[in-house]
Amino acid sequence: MVSGPLTDADVAPWVASLGLPHLVDLHLHFLPDRMQQKVWAYFDEAAEHYGTPWPIQYRMSEEDRLDVLRKLNVGVFAPLVYPHKPGMGAWLTEWVLDFAARTPGAVPTATIYAEPGVTSYLGAALEAGARCVKAHVQVGGYDPRDPLLDQAWGMIADAGVPVVIHCGHGPAPGEFTGLDVFEEVLRRHPALTAVLAHAGMPEIGLALDLAQRYPRLHLDTTMVGVAFTAGMSPLPDDWLDRLAALPDRIVLGTDFPSIPYPYAEQLAAIAGWAQADDRLGEPFLRAVLHDNPSRLLRLGTSG
Ligand SMILES: [Zn+2]
Repeated sequence: MVSGPLTDADVAPWVASLGLPHLVDLHLHFLPDRMQQKVWAYFDEAAEHYGTPWPIQYRMSEEDRLDVLRKLNVGVFAPLVYPHKPGMGAWLTEWVLDFAARTPGAVPTATIYAEPGVTSYLGAALEAGARCVKAHVQVGGYDPRDPLLDQAWGMIADAGVPVVIHCGHGPAPGEFTGLDVFEEVLRRHPALTAVLAHAGMPEIGLALDLAQRYPRLHLDTTMVGVAFTAGMSPLPDDWLDRLAALPDRIVLGTDFPSIPYPYAEQLAAIAGWAQADDRLGEPFLRAVLHDNPSRLLRLGTSG
């Protein structure tokens, strides 16, 4: 088996060597420029917020970031947006739908917030073709069990669209983070296709337990297994066994562009798991890097 990419320049040939047309990244971010600058300014103070510096690897113009993705052969991606307070969900969703319409490879997405009116902008976005929804419980500071969201979860479940949800305690706990909290939503909406961002970090073992119990629950690889998170969120001892049990439930996510290391490093981590276990290997890589996220985004066989 071909070993993982060492640098970003190695990524495209490595993807081709796996027999894949391109990567499908279910978890990366594009934001309106002013908001993106604010997010980066927040990461500049990461030492205060998270106790560790967080130098942004891809701090560049939108055009240049798209060029990086093209060179990495990220052929399809879900650009995710998320509000940190009420009153932003509708226009952020409109912004990202417009971004996707003008950007090759970007699938239309939406976001939600626990607020009156969420069902109306979510409904409009689903009608407009949104294929993925982002919910950020930690940044948003809302309770995913909030009755204002109950109908929204039902709409997402009915639409069969995946919701990428950051509900784990990492990198810092929020008032309503915790997989136990989100499980109450799953209990009410077992048909929900949810993707636990960052594999639920730091409760990765618990996230895998939940995935065993809820057949529509997935885990994304965002920041999982890279050196940067090894200290705060080590992988469970039985990680490879757990992956081998759920190969169709792991999907590529990266958090590009606001990551403190090159994109290739995330892929190298995933390649390392695949190489370390005969039950995984290249079929696992093709599933995680392309087939699973394609299936969730309903891209069809050519996607
Ligand atoms: Zn993210």
